[in-house]
Amino acid sequence: VKYVGTFNTKPTRSMALAEQAKRVAAEFEFGDDAVNKAVKEFIREMDEGLEKEGTEMSQIPTYVTAVPNGTEKGLYMAVDLGGTNFRVCSIQLHGNTTFSLTQSKVAIPRELMVAKTSKELFSFLAKQIEAFLKTHHEEHYAGTLRRREGNSVPPQHDEIFNLGFTFSFPVNQIGINKGMLMRWTKGFDIQDAVGKDVCALLQHEIDELHLPVKVAALVNDTVGTLMARSYTSPGKTGTLLGAIFGTGTNGAYVERLDKVTKLTKDKNAGEYDSSTGEMIVNTEWGSFDNSLRTLPNTPYDIELDEKSVNPGIQMFEKRVSGMFLGELLRLALLKLIKDPNVPLFTDDNSSSNDVHSTTQIHDSSPIWKQWGLDTSFLSVCAGDSSPGYRMLRQTLDKDYDISAVSAEDAEAVREIAAAIGRRAARLAAVAIAGIVINTGRLDRPSGSATTERKSSIEPPRGDVDGSDGDEIDVGVDGSLVEFYPNFEEYIREALRAVAEIGTKGEKRVRIGIAKDGSGVGAALIALVAGQVAAPE
Ligand code: BGC
Ligand code: MG
Repeated sequence: VKYVGTFNTKPTRSMALAEQAKRVAAEFEFGDDAVNKAVKEFIREMDEGLEKEGTEMSQIPTYVTAVPNGTEKGLYMAVDLGGTNFRVCSIQLHGNTTFSLTQSKVAIPRELMVAKTSKELFSFLAKQIEAFLKTHHEEHYAGTLRRREGNSVPPQHDEIFNLGFTFSFPVNQIGINKGMLMRWTKGFDIQDAVGKDVCALLQHEIDELHLPVKVAALVNDTVGTLMARSYTSPGKTGTLLGAIFGTGTNGAYVERLDKVTKLTKDKNAGEYDSSTGEMIVNTEWGSFDNSLRTLPNTPYDIELDEKSVNPGIQMFEKRVSGMFLGELLRLALLKLIKDPNVPLFTDDNSSSNDVHSTTQIHDSSPIWKQWGLDTSFLSVCAGDSSPGYRMLRQTLDKDYDISAVSAEDAEAVREIAAAIGRRAARLAAVAIAGIVINTGRLDRPSGSATTERKSSIEPPRGDVDGSDGDEIDVGVDGSLVEFYPNFEEYIREALRAVAEIGTKGEKRVRIGIAKDGSGVGAALIALVAGQVAAPE
């Protein structure tokens, strides 16, 4: 017998660490059977949510039953509140499926996300709108000052901006520009806003400043993404789903109106145009399976949830989205750091040129603090193929005050980070699969969609990308899909494992970025809303 290779001269620590890292990574496994079970549960919750209120997945009717056909013209405003930043933009629709967009963006101060009163937040938003008008739309701003001085000339018709308000939280929508906040998510927590009409809250602050702006449409970011994707990437069958994998996660899709029985049977429902036979439904899938029938639940998931501002809810989101993945990794790494036998980050680092030869986690390291590890670090881990994971170690040093990390320890970190990212993507696939299956899109024979589909929820016609009507189009946006390497690949791998989809079905799913979809989508909906409100 001939032995090839060498014996490890430092076997104890490295083997024990590698084993320990494998064990923790394995806790994040979400296998094919688990995926299939979760898809069944997702479909059950979708249907339940269409029938009644108070379900885990809210399945909110959006009152959007049509999209423009690309010939619309006009200048609209859109604002986007939903995560880290507040965005204000104006969108000029050119009437030929193209548009131009001017925008400004500010980080939302943390203290406003958890303010005592909603007025603090909404007056801040109105001030940003004012600043935007002043800088970019003088002509709309001029009258404001006169009105404020008491020379109250009401704004002229052509001075008024119709605004689409992208508000990316669960809202019980009762009309195109009216909806009550159901609950906050993503770290926001301002109790007095819950149950109030968020359009009215914003309009009130806008009016206090005498701005010529009318909140014309209330839009979830997923709905905006769906609209914008349909508008800019035409295919024969139209976009089925708009999904966000960013700070939070959610999806909105095109549903048959007759299935939305909680709306169609509700005598108090607001008005909507039923002629298309379809309505866009905002699933609020962040709350899929809050009762954990099929979701994985590691000790890290449990701790993250317990210490969150909203324990017990958004359980799917807490396993999938950018606000939480970094925290999951932090908790898992803490377990390794505190391991009595092979504590992580205590290795010598003889192979490195750093000044220290032994790793140091400084007291100042954000890793000790809740939310201290940013989800972007998972992307760094997944994207680092440099020898010895140089980038990963540099990031630990520069951003996390953990210096002179050895290649072995970096490998352990990388393995766990990958497991968390992969699990998130496989869970994302559960949601996509549930919608693809339950809407019956897979059953549609190739090429027949154009004749069957009598809906105005369709993009402009044309075989722009040579598609033959066979594809199932999904528009996505958010930091995870944009920056996490392999996210789509992991999604696809899980889609293939779903019994009803398989390799054939997976190939038909087209996933495309709808960058800044929420802004453009909101403008498009504001336009439709304007037409509904003021028919010629
Ligand atoms: C909210 C959704 C939103 C999603 C993505 C979730 O936390 O509940 O309304 O669409 O985040 O922004
Ligand atoms: Mg967003």
